[in-house]
Amino acid sequence: MRIGQGFDVHRFADPAEGRPLVLMGCAVPHDRGLAGHSDADVMLHALMDALLGAAGLGDIGQHFPDTDPAYKGADSARLLERVMADLGQRGWRVVNADVCLIGERPKLAPHREAMRRRIAPILGLAPEDLNVKATTTEKLGFTGRGEGLAAQAVVLIDRG
Ligand SMILES: [Zn+2]
Repeated sequence: MRIGQGFDVHRFADPAEGRPLVLMGCAVPHDRGLAGHSDADVMLHALMDALLGAAGLGDIGQHFPDTDPAYKGADSARLLERVMADLGQRGWRVVNADVCLIGERPKLAPHREAMRRRIAPILGLAPEDLNVKATTTEKLGFTGRGEGLAAQAVVLIDRG
C-alpha cells in the first residue's frame, strides 16, 4: 500500500470574466470562478497530485504543463481519467480518498453528494469511499479574505 497527499491553490478570477466555478467536476453556482489555465478545479488538482504522489509519478505540473495550449480550459475530470489510466497500467487501484476544500464560500454541503457520485466512478470507488469535506480558515489569510480557494487531498492506493 502507498499513501499520497496533494495541495493546490487558485485565486478567484475577476467576476467580469464570467468563469464558472468547477469543483470535483461539478459546476457550483457562485458569483465568481477560479482563475487558471485549465478549468481550475482546485479540488481535482489536489486529488490528482495525491494520486501521482502515491504512485511515485511526480505531479500534475509535469504531466499537464500549464504552458501547453492543449490544456487551456481543460476539463480536469478528463485529466483525472488519464492519471487513473497511468496508475492502472502500473497495477495500482485506489482504496479511498479524502478531499478537503479550504475557503469561506461557497458552501460545499449542498454539492457534496453530487461530487462523490461524479468522481468516485473515475477512481473506481463506491461513493462512500470518496470523502468530500470543507473547512474555513476563520476568515484568516487569503482564503479567509475570499481571494481564492485551496484544497488538500489524501489517498491510499494498493496493488495486489
Ligand atoms: Zn490547480
